[in-house]
Amino acid sequence: MKKEIVLSGMRPTGTLHLGNYFGALKRWSEVQSDHDCYWMVADLHSLTTLESTADIEKTTLEMTTLWLAAGLDPERSTIFLQSAVPEHGELNAIFATLLPTSMLELNPTYKEMTAEHPKSGSFGILNYPVLQAADILLYKASRVPVGRDQEPHIEITREIARRFNNKFGEFFAEPHALFSETPKIYSLTEPEKKMSKSGRPDSYIGLLDDEKIVREKIKGAITDSGSEIVYDPEQKPALAHLIDLLHLSSGKPIENVVSEHGGAGYASFKTALAESVSAMLIPIQERFRSYKPADVKNILADGTAKARAVAQKNLGDIKEKIGLLNLK
Ligand code: AMP
Repeated sequence: MKKEIVLSGMRPTGTLHLGNYFGALKRWSEVQSDHDCYWMVADLHSLTTLESTADIEKTTLEMTTLWLAAGLDPERSTIFLQSAVPEHGELNAIFATLLPTSMLELNPTYKEMTAEHPKSGSFGILNYPVLQAADILLYKASRVPVGRDQEPHIEITREIARRFNNKFGEFFAEPHALFSETPKIYSLTEPEKKMSKSGRPDSYIGLLDDEKIVREKIKGAITDSGSEIVYDPEQKPALAHLIDLLHLSSGKPIENVVSEHGGAGYASFKTALAESVSAMLIPIQERFRSYKPADVKNILADGTAKARAVAQKNLGDIKEKIGLLNLK
């Protein structure tokens, strides 16, 4: 039976954090065995918000190495570089004709990104979900494993697929988001916000943070009033987010986390959480250090060649469906 096609990407804009890991990356490595997976280094997307590209080569290789260290397997998945597959831009130009700009202006992530990056204000931010639709539909992906923040973009992709099909005839299946168990991981310092690399450094735990840093960041994490460890996401959301992190990093059910730490107080709970997070990160960090940049670059080059062949074939079919003159 033909495997379902899955695609997702991350921007190489800085180090990855627990939000990227539990919201997306962990899910990616789980779905590899029974899906036809494409994992994209979304370097073109990162240009929308990066103030300087001085580090982009370094962060691209670092992020790809972290993906491998966290379990992505180039034998089972296609790991590729968005900017090296020009068909993404071509399909973007086609899709850009299908939606009114007013619909893109209503996109909540457009508002968030322009608020976060007021100096940018570029068309690239407005275009972000259109390029993302091109990324997904170029490979005819039907499943997109992402964090909850990406939901509006997947909805725009579905809308683009529908509009294309209505205008040119049935071609694309509408893709669906594939959420992880906890599709939103929260900031340690502002528990009502998502964990984000654009936040203060003590608001997120980086996948490369060492034990001491993890301990300090968790020690400083905001908790709710009281000293008892209870799981109450409505009344005590900050504590609930930390309990979620202990559950996710240790694999223990939430009831067990609460019963083990219930009466022990915040300090000992936080020590256990820091130990659990570090125990999870250390093997990833060891594998990260074992890769040579040249090997990672080769893995990316091989994956990109594979992705490009698929992209060229599919874009050819898309142009044919539209009825554009084929000069070959
Ligand atoms: P980005 O770093 O924005 O390129 O995001 C890469 C992936 O990580 C996307 O699938 C996001 O939805 C996911 N992600 C980023 N931050 C979080 C978070 N705090 N919680 C859950 N998923 C997240």
